[in-house]
Amino acid sequence: MVEITPIPLSRLTTLQTGAAPDRMVDAATADEIVDALRDVWSRDEEWFVLGGGSNLFAGDEPFGGTVIRILSTGIEHLDSPHSGRHRLRVQAGHNWDDLVAYTVEHGLAGIEAMSGIPGTVGAAPVQNVGAYGQEIQETLVEVELIDESTGEVEVVAASDLGLGFRTSVLKHHHGGAPIRRAVILSVTLDLAEVGDEGRTIGGEQLRRALGIIGDEKVSLARVREQILEIRAAKGMLLNSDDPDTSSAGSFFQNLIVPEVVASQLPPECPRWPVHPDLDAETVIPLESYDGQIPAAQVSRPEVKVSAAWMIENAGISKGFRLPRSRAGISTKHALALTNRGRATAGELAELARFIQARVHSEFGLLLQPEPVLVGVDL
Ligand SMILES: Cc1cc2nc3c(=O)[nH]c(=O)nc-3n(C[C@H](O)[C@H](O)[C@H](O)COP(=O)(O)OP(=O)(O)OC[C@H]3O[C@@H](n4cnc5c(N)ncnc54)[C@H](O)[C@@H]3O)c2cc1C
Repeated sequence: MVEITPIPLSRLTTLQTGAAPDRMVDAATADEIVDALRDVWSRDEEWFVLGGGSNLFAGDEPFGGTVIRILSTGIEHLDSPHSGRHRLRVQAGHNWDDLVAYTVEHGLAGIEAMSGIPGTVGAAPVQNVGAYGQEIQETLVEVELIDESTGEVEVVAASDLGLGFRTSVLKHHHGGAPIRRAVILSVTLDLAEVGDEGRTIGGEQLRRALGIIGDEKVSLARVREQILEIRAAKGMLLNSDDPDTSSAGSFFQNLIVPEVVASQLPPECPRWPVHPDLDAETVIPLESYDGQIPAAQVSRPEVKVSAAWMIENAGISKGFRLPRSRAGISTKHALALTNRGRATAGELAELARFIQARVHSEFGLLLQPEPVLVGVDL
């Protein structure tokens, strides 16, 4: 690991905000990440790790601690215990989209619909990245991480990461501490070997995006190519020539609300059922088993509702800017807050609060930010 002259976070984050932190360390291998973390923990300093900076909203005041840049790369091939499948163990700092391109080239299916998502592999499980109906939790086997509470490296199964809609136990929500403060060192994925032939596409969202009607097989290369085109048209593919991509992707999350709340929204508001976890098991300890199997718990039905629709129907259209502000909504996507050129975090936060207030007064719901906030309050 090497301590470097701190670089302003505005140059390392896609929202382009944030001053230089007090201290910055580059860690190019898993061992260096471990050393850097043990070093800051021994000094009891504030810290956070930085991947591609594409899901981070950094405040204008300098961060008063150490930022560790995760720069480890590398892909290892492992056998899968399942026939027709193949495992890859990937270092945390590896570029996510380079990994997707690699899997497509090697005929390995499972993450191709997530082509073009910026950032690093290690950050992907943190918010369970997903696009077009595919999420990393479908192929994630385990991660190797180092936990702040023990200072030890361990392997944690995907099922123990609390993966949900753009969340996990590792994610800092709204500037708060995560349930588990840990840093991912590597990620293991289990992918289907489909070769050049590709496979039939099952997910409705992806079928719709690709315009597939029948049951024809679609090559992974075609999925990737089309997804990259769709993302570019929506300003969701990083491009220094396109100011609509100076964002953190979707700034606000679609909201998951009880069905009864969703039923009070106008019927035109797009909504999708959230399926309860049918695999969830209740374990009854043998000592307390009295021969009775308790009735299955009835979970309250929940619905995911469109944040983009609520924003646009609260009177805020694509391209909207507050007077004299250098922050604006993308001209292509209502959910993306963008930096139109040297906007401060204060200007972006002002726009975010304005949108939250308008949506709240129109629909009674508070939109929640998706990026991790460091030194900013909404
Ligand atoms: C144009 C654009 C489009 C996007 N589209 C999508 C999309 O379609 N779907 C989607 O899900 N997301 C999308 N995003 C959001 C973002 O790309 C992802 O969340 C990505 O996984 C963030 O990776 P990163 O390396 O940039 O993380 P960073 O922004 O560097 O970090 C994000 C958080 O993760 C933590 N972190 C980083 N690395 C690690 C690690 N190794 N271990 C533990 N914590 C870590 C950081 O401390 C921080 O709290 C988009 C963003 C942009 C700018």
